[in-house]
Formats: sequence, C-alpha cells, structure tokens
Amino acid sequence: MSWTAQARNGRLLIVDDAMENIQILNHVLGEEHEVLFALNGEKALELAHQHRPDLILLDALMPGMDGYEVCAALHASSELQDIPIIFVTALTNPEDETRALEAGAVDFITKPFNVAVVRARVRTHLTLKRQSDTLRELTLTDSLTGVANRRCFNDAIDHEWRRCLRSGAPLSVVMIDIDHFKLYNDAYGHQAGDTCLKEVARAMVHCAGRSPDLVARYGGEEFIILLPQVGAEGAETVAQRLLANIAELAIPHRMSPAGNAVTVSLGVATVQPSDSSSAEALVRAADQALYQAKESGRNRYRIARDGLALAQE
Ligand code: GH3
Ligand code: MG
Ligand code: MG
Repeated sequence: MSWTAQARNGRLLIVDDAMENIQILNHVLGEEHEVLFALNGEKALELAHQHRPDLILLDALMPGMDGYEVCAALHASSELQDIPIIFVTALTNPEDETRALEAGAVDFITKPFNVAVVRARVRTHLTLKRQSDTLRELTLTDSLTGVANRRCFNDAIDHEWRRCLRSGAPLSVVMIDIDHFKLYNDAYGHQAGDTCLKEVARAMVHCAGRSPDLVARYGGEEFIILLPQVGAEGAETVAQRLLANIAELAIPHRMSPAGNAVTVSLGVATVQPSDSSSAEALVRAADQALYQAKESGRNRYRIARDGLALAQE
C-alpha cells in the first residue's frame, strides 16, 4: 500500500469548542479517516490518552484550556508527545502563526476552511507520521527476532528506572544466554541457528510479553527481559517459566553437553531504584548471576542476592 493510501486509514482527533466547525471538518475528513472529536481541552487530553490518535486538529482559541495549553500538556506526556498537532485558527497574523509553531504545532489551518487545503494538509501529516512511526520501529527492533533491540532496552530501562524511583516500585531484569549455541551452529548451520533464535525469542515474549515488560535482544544469542514493578519473587517466577517453556520447545541439539535439546542459562537481578544504585549496576548484577548459572552447569537460573553490592565491587 502506498504511503498516501495508508494515510487514509489514520485516526484524527478534532478539538474545537464550536460544534459547527467540528461538523464541517468531520464532513471533509470523515470519509477518509476515523474521526474523534472533543469540545474542550480537557476532553481532548482524555481522548488522546485513550485512543492515541495519529493527528490532532486543535482549535487555538477555546474557553478554559486553550489550544496552546493543550499542546503543552500533550508535549509534556512521553506517550503523547509524538502525535503531530495542526492548529486550527481564525487568526492569521504572523505572531499567531509563530506562537502556534513555537508551541510545537507542525502546521496550521485557517478558518474559514478551504476543503482542498484541509484534506491535503491532513494527508501530508498523516503520511509523515506513518513514516516516522515506521522508522522509529525499525530503529528499535531487532530485525531477526522482531523483539526490541539493545538501544530500545537502554531507553526503556532508563525510563522505567525513573518511574520506579518515583513510585517506590521494584525493578527486575533477567538476562538470558543460549547454552552452547556455537555448537548448535556447528551442528545444524547458521540458518538453523537463526530459526532457533527466533523460536527462543518467541518463547520469551510468551513468558513476559505484557506491557510494560520488555524482551530485547542484547547481542548475539543473548537476550534481556525488563520487568518493571516486578519484585524478586515475580522475577524468579518468570525465570522458572522461561526454563520450562524452552524445555517444552524441545529444539534438538545433539552436540549440547547440557542435554540433547536447546537450553538457556539465566541471571536474575532485582533492585529498588534509589539514588545510590543505577540501572547499569542492575544489568551488571544480572550478568554476573548469568555467569554463575553457566559456571554451575547451565540450563538453570541464578539470582543476584546482594545484586547491586556484588556488582559494584
Ligand atoms: P555458552 O553456553 O557458554 O553460552 O556457549 P555458546 O557457544 O553459546 O557461547 P559463545 O559466546 O561461545 O558463542 C555464541 C555463538 O552464538 C557464536 C555465534 O556464532 C552465535 N551467534 C551469535 N549471533 C548469532 C546469530 O545472529 N545467528 C546465529 N545463527 N548464530 C549467532
Ligand atoms: Mg551462549
Ligand atoms: Mg553469549
């Protein structure tokens, strides 16, 4: 499908305190796009959180919360800040245009509406939004397994660290490494190795794929799972489930000294984020626990007991 054709499927949120403006815009855009509307700023923010529109058409002047305030609130939200905003305004002097663009709008449309201009601008910005979504997805996803990549994991752990620091919730990570994977490649070939990586990744997503959990490929045949708001007990359960699920896959590995099927070793670490610890130390602790799991025979998990103290030595 072309970018333009895809843009037709986008979801729009139209915000205007005058019902007649909403009706006109709905008439112009409703056939091509899914349209939501709000008659005030508060409702607009509520709908934006609930429905994540691809584009917002925002009236600049409204009683109560005006367009500029809505724009600022959207930009302050990490979940909503990437939604493009087109200001809709009867004002046409350059200061107003500048103010709208400085507030973070990508474009503006003036009233009274020119139907062709409104359609064209909306299509253009939906196309751009679609392209940037795809690009972001590509830069954050591992192309072989489809799970998050290391960069995505790094962003996520920073974000979740701060969130758990604020809320007082724990944060856990599980580091996973496939056992004797070099021998697997030697026995079955690199392509079979790739297929094995995909299957193992799928099993991980099955065990810990619910938001805000994040499964990421950390490198080669090493994966990491971020478990925000999950304490030591929950993280251990995930590790046990993972071992069981991978055993269930029963991928033959005739050269493995750890058995005749593909197995993994896991390192688990949990922390209560504080100013005296760090996300890096948490990952390091999980890595050291993984090393211990390898050392003590593979196909098992180890928990970093005094994880962070241990890791900071
Ligand atoms: P251990 O049990 O100690 O983890 O042994 P191992 O053989 O799994 O570990 P090692 O680090 O020695 O080897 C990792 C292997 O993983 C070597 C490399 O060829 C393979 N590998 C890394 N990335 C890929 C990939 O994308 N595809 C395939 N097929 N193999 C990969
Ligand atoms: Mg390995
Ligand atoms: Mg490895």
